[in-house]
Amino acid sequence: MDTNIVIIGAGVVGLAIAQELSKWFDDVFLMEKNATFGQETSSRNSEVIHSGIYYPQGSLKATLCVEGKELLYNYCQQKQIAHKKIGKLIVSTNASEDRILQAILRQAQNNNVTDAQLLTMKEIKQLEPHINATSALYFPSTGIVDSFGLMKQLENDAINQGVQVLYKKEITAIRKITNGYELTVSENNERFSFTASVVINAGGLYADKIAAMVGIYEPSYTLHYWKGEYFSVTNGKHKLINHLIYPIPHQNNTGLGIHATLDINHRLKLGPNALYLPTHTLDYSVDKAHGESFYNAAKKFLPFIEFDDLQADQAGIRPKLQKPGDAVRDFII
Ligand SMILES: Cc1cc2nc3c(=O)[nH]c(=O)nc-3n(C[C@H](O)[C@H](O)[C@H](O)COP(=O)(O)OP(=O)(O)OC[C@H]3O[C@@H](n4cnc5c(N)ncnc54)[C@H](O)[C@@H]3O)c2cc1C
Repeated sequence: MDTNIVIIGAGVVGLAIAQELSKWFDDVFLMEKNATFGQETSSRNSEVIHSGIYYPQGSLKATLCVEGKELLYNYCQQKQIAHKKIGKLIVSTNASEDRILQAILRQAQNNNVTDAQLLTMKEIKQLEPHINATSALYFPSTGIVDSFGLMKQLENDAINQGVQVLYKKEITAIRKITNGYELTVSENNERFSFTASVVINAGGLYADKIAAMVGIYEPSYTLHYWKGEYFSVTNGKHKLINHLIYPIPHQNNTGLGIHATLDINHRLKLGPNALYLPTHTLDYSVDKAHGESFYNAAKKFLPFIEFDDLQADQAGIRPKLQKPGDAVRDFII
């Protein structure tokens, strides 16, 4: 074989795999079609270090989120990557939502999220004097991270441990051969092939297409694209909250509801929404007309927000195994 291990895709997942595997194995290649790392979903998200609250008990999503949170905090601390355990509130604004909060608390406890606290109105006012809520669940260990800084550090570590990180290399075909794979790579309209013993698919939005290249074609593995738009909140309103503030999540599993996120520089954004992209295209536009629905959603728990505070910001696309109306699906690794 020309090489031992090839990882396809330099998003945060491919970079983390490269960083970890290169501690144990030689001859690791990371190949990315874009000119640098993290140009797709990994740089178009909320940068939240989640607690693992909502996922079904025993699912990979729940288990890996709880375990991964601690690993990520340790890595950030050890490598001095900007991050903050800022804490998260899920707020209810009426009696029927209060009952859903109780169910979320039970779900969190079932998933071994041990820091959840149900707050009274008085306690909420102490933490967040400017929000509207009848009760709230508080998760002190939820945090935020500088996603660029995290990916840069993972890339540095991987390179220092011997990984060959190659950009502008798109894998266009993979053929199973005895004891490995033959991969075809496209670079500036030129093609070349090489062989590897192990191929790791970290292709994000294209992971199903990459799997199909080796003949892993299973209709239930088809990825569905769900766009999430953000609106930033201007006029100094970022000073009025100190935590991530979430409403009760959608009951149809399409998203967590329009919430208020703060980044590492304390910039305040609302979002993301969840728009199904039936065309399977990379559409990162933000429709300014959606500002009104963001305003109406956020106003319920952030009464200080005015419509004129909102400005269209970025969008990202979640690859999901479910299309509209489907039940929540777990990771398949
Ligand atoms: C709106 C939104 C908000 C989110 N918020 C959060 C959050 O707060 N916290 C959280 O933990 N997660 C969040 N996520 C999810 C998180 O962003 C993703 O789970 C994560 O970025 C996935 O990383 P990845 O490496 O799998 O994918 P990607 O970042 O998409 O990387 C895949 C890479 O593979 C490359 N690639 C694909 N095909 C090929 C090929 N044939 N050859 C070479 N390279 C190829 C792509 O170019 C890309 O760089 C959010 C996602 C969205 C969309």
